[in-house]
Amino acid sequence: MYPHPFRYYRPSSLDEASSTLSELGEDAKALAGGQSLIPLMKLRLSNPSSLVDLNFIPDLSYIRRVNGTLHFGAMTRHADIENSEAASRIPILHDCAAGIADFQVRNRGTIGGSIAEADPSGDWGPVLLTLDTTATAVAPEGGSRTIPLGEFFLDAYTTALAPAELVQEIAVKVPPKDTGGAYVAFKRCAPVYASASAAVSLALKEGDTCEHARIALGCVGLTAIQPREAEAALSGKKMSPKNIEAACEAAMSAADPQSDMRGSAEYKRALVRVLLKRAIEIAARRARGEHVEASHEYAGRI
Ligand SMILES: Cc1cc2nc3c(=O)[nH]c(=O)nc-3n(C[C@H](O)[C@H](O)[C@H](O)COP(=O)(O)OP(=O)(O)OC[C@H]3O[C@@H](n4cnc5c(N)ncnc54)[C@H](O)[C@@H]3O)c2cc1C
Repeated sequence: MYPHPFRYYRPSSLDEASSTLSELGEDAKALAGGQSLIPLMKLRLSNPSSLVDLNFIPDLSYIRRVNGTLHFGAMTRHADIENSEAASRIPILHDCAAGIADFQVRNRGTIGGSIAEADPSGDWGPVLLTLDTTATAVAPEGGSRTIPLGEFFLDAYTTALAPAELVQEIAVKVPPKDTGGAYVAFKRCAPVYASASAAVSLALKEGDTCEHARIALGCVGLTAIQPREAEAALSGKKMSPKNIEAACEAAMSAADPQSDMRGSAEYKRALVRVLLKRAIEIAARRARGEHVEASHEYAGRI
């Protein structure tokens, strides 16, 4: 179906984009990769009066490392991150970027658009929540503010961004040595969102004690869930099968999935246990310095 007619604006800076959105009012929307917005417009589930295109704004697509922090411009495409030096050094970034949908979506979709969309099934949310992540946003009246990612996602499709406020950059602290992360999602096939996913970041001491664990679950709640009891089951403890099992049990209890075409709530909860166990094992091996390939799991392979 064709979308409803809309006006099209092509600003040359993020400040101009933000003030244009503010002048046009809440019916106007920013356009990034269009991989969430355009399908919704074609289904007429979203009918913006105007689109403010961010694609022609210079210097919004980059990956820079400055003083131990990685900076991703909001318009950095999933594919750019997948193939980046940053993702080869921090494998959880590669696990995520390489698993998003198919080549077409990864070549267009952006990290800024993904977090702004706040889709409960989006892959970046849970992954970035296990890292020290902030988002910098630009407001129509000028100036910018930095929002810790833990305060960014408020509800399904709802963020802390004010009307016309735009994500400029996502910053991720490079994890210290002896830290490993992994992200595993289960999908029925490539171009669909996952049924459930688990992201883990572990800091190990002497190879077998977990100093600190961060866990986030995707697709099993209105936003990514951070199961604190699961983290506590690992933090400060030996990486024993018993403690890992306790973490997986706690994560299953924290999950709050809905039954839908991707599986029953019960099935998704069972997936959480399997995916989290797998992610913890991979993260621990990476924290010990092993090179471990990880990718999304597809139906028939789990
Ligand atoms: C077939 C298909 C399969 C997909 N599968 C997955 C998947 O498995 N996992 C996954 O994570 N994603 C998936 N996606 C979504 C994809 O990752 C999108 O790229 C992402 O959700 C939105 O990014 P975008 O750049 O395309 O944003 P757009 O669609 O352009 O915008 C999305 C929303 O964010 C707003 N916005 C965009 N940029 C900004 C900004 N800088 N500041 C503030 N607001 C902004 C827009 O106004 C809009 O409301 C899939 C998409 C398709 C079409």
